[in-house]
Amino acid sequence: MSQSRDLQEAQAVLQQVFGYPSFRGLQAEVVAEAVAGRDALVLMPTGAGKSLCYQVPAIVRQRQGKGVTLVVSPLIALMHDQVGALEEVGVQAAFLNSSQDFEATKRIERALLAGELTLLYAAPERVTNARFQALLDSLHERGLLSLFAIDEAHCVSQWGHDFREDYLQLNLLHERYPEVPRLALTATADSHTRADMVERLQLQDAQVFISSFDRPNIRYRVVEKKDPRAQFLRFLYDEHRGDAGIVYCGSRKKVDETAEWLEQQGIKALPYHAGLDQAKRAKHQDRFLREDGVVMVATIAFGMGIDKPDVRFVAHLDLPKNIEGYYQETGRAGRDGEPANAWMAYGLADVVQQRRMIDESPAHEDFKRIQRSKLDALLALAESTDCRRQRLLAYFDEDSQPCGNCDNCLQPPAVWDATEPARMALSCIYRFQKERNQRFGAGHLIDVLRGKETDKTRQHRHQELSTWGIGRMVTETQWRAVLRQLIALGAVEVEGEYQTLCLGEAAKPVLRGEQAVKLREGTGEGKVRASKKPG
Ligand code: ADP
Ligand code: ZN
Repeated sequence: MSQSRDLQEAQAVLQQVFGYPSFRGLQAEVVAEAVAGRDALVLMPTGAGKSLCYQVPAIVRQRQGKGVTLVVSPLIALMHDQVGALEEVGVQAAFLNSSQDFEATKRIERALLAGELTLLYAAPERVTNARFQALLDSLHERGLLSLFAIDEAHCVSQWGHDFREDYLQLNLLHERYPEVPRLALTATADSHTRADMVERLQLQDAQVFISSFDRPNIRYRVVEKKDPRAQFLRFLYDEHRGDAGIVYCGSRKKVDETAEWLEQQGIKALPYHAGLDQAKRAKHQDRFLREDGVVMVATIAFGMGIDKPDVRFVAHLDLPKNIEGYYQETGRAGRDGEPANAWMAYGLADVVQQRRMIDESPAHEDFKRIQRSKLDALLALAESTDCRRQRLLAYFDEDSQPCGNCDNCLQPPAVWDATEPARMALSCIYRFQKERNQRFGAGHLIDVLRGKETDKTRQHRHQELSTWGIGRMVTETQWRAVLRQLIALGAVEVEGEYQTLCLGEAAKPVLRGEQAVKLREGTGEGKVRASKKPG
C-alpha cells in the first residue's frame, strides 16, 4: 500500500475514531512510519500526544488485517485509563495484568487469537512470563502480531531518572519477532539517555523523531530557599488559590509533614508516596484527578502518566535529581495549554544533601560521576541569571531565544560581580588544604572569612591565617550564595560525611581571574560594593 494511501487512512481514523481534525507536530510523520511497518524512536514532551502515535497506526494496521498492537507501559493506571478511553470510542482494547482473575485473562486471550483486539496493553514484566510468550508465539504464527509500542522507553536506560530492570528484557520482543515493527516513545531526551535507549533496544535503524521540548505556557521560576513554607504559601495565596497543583518533596516524611501543614492552612492537600498503602494512594490519586483544586504533595513516585490537563502549578520544595527530572515533573503542569507555573525553592542544604546521596550510594564510580555532573547542570540552571527556558532547552540540545516567560526574562535579576569574594573563598580553602592539611565545611569557612572568633577558630588558630577576616564586608547569606555558585561551577567540591570543601577542577581560572563569577544580587541585605575590596 502506498504511503499517501496509508496517511489518508490514518487521517480518517483520527477524525472518525478520535474526532480530531488534524495531526499535531510530528504525529503525522510518526504515524506514517509506523503504519508502513518501520521502526521509530519518538521523543516528544509530555502532552504532545504520543499515545495517538501508536493508537492510530494500531487501528489502521488492524483494519489491514495485521492483528494486534502490543503496548508496553510501566504504568498500570495509565493503561487502565487508555483502555477505558479507547473502548469509549469503539476501539477493541484490553490490558493484561497480574491482578486479573483467570477467567478475565482467558477471555482476553481468546479475543486476541480470534483477531478481535486492536490494542493490548501489558506491563514490561509480562514479556518474560512464559504464558504470555506462548500467547505471542501463537499470535505471531497466525500473522496477528502487528506492532510493538514501547512507552516510556527511557526506563530502559540507567542514566535516565526511572530505570526499570524489566525494560532490559524488552529486547526479547525484537529477538523473537524481528520483523514486527517497533515504536519506542519517551518524553526524556538528553543525549546520554537517547544513545542508551537506541543501544539497549537495538533501535539503530529506527527513524528518530524529535519534537521541540518547549512548553511555552509554563512559566519557570526558582527562588532562593529562606523560609520555604512561608515562601510557598505566599506563592499559593497570591497566584493559585483554589487551583490544582503538585508539590514535590524529597522524602516521604516531608511529604507527610507538608501535606498536614497545608491542611492546617486550610488548603485541600493530600500526601502521595510509595510508603502509603495501595488503597490510600489510589484514593488520593483519584481525588486529585476528579475533584477541583486538590494539591497533591508527593515524592517523585507520583505523576508519571497522570493525565490531568488543568494542573496549574508544580512546586518543588526540594531539589529534583537532575534536569530531566525537573523537566518531567514541571511538565505535568499546564497540559491544557493554559498558563501554568513551575516554582522551585532551592538552597545550599539541598545541594549538599544530594551530593551526599550520590557519594554514599553503592553505585559504580562512572555512574556517580555522571550523576554529579547532572546535578551540577541542574544547579547551574537554578543559579542562572539569564533565561531559564533557554538553558533548559539547551540541555536537550535545542537552540532558542530568551523566552519572555520565565522569572529571569520577566524580572532580570540584578547581578553583582562576586569574582573577588569567590577568589577569597578559594584561597581560604587553599590555605586550609596546603598550610594546615585540613578541610572544613561551609560554616567554618565563612567564620574565618568574616573573622568571627569561635571555639573552633581558636582551637585551630585560624586567626593567624592570611585569609582571616578578609571577607568581613560580605554577609553570611551572600557567602552562602558565593559558595553555591562555586559548587555549581565545579570550582569547589563537597566531600564526605562532614561535607567538607575542597578545590575543584574549575578553581584555577577563578583564582587566576580568568573566570568571572556573577551572582544574583543579595536579598535585601545590600550588595557588596566593588570599592570595598579587601586589602
Ligand atoms: P503524551 O503521552 O505525549 O504526554 P497524550 O498522548 O496523553 O500526550 O496527549 C495529550 C493530550 O493531547 C490528550 O488529551 C490528547 O487527546 C490530545 N491530543 C493528542 N493529539 C492530538 C491532536 N492531533 N489533536 C487534538 N488533540 C490531541
Ligand atoms: Zn526566559
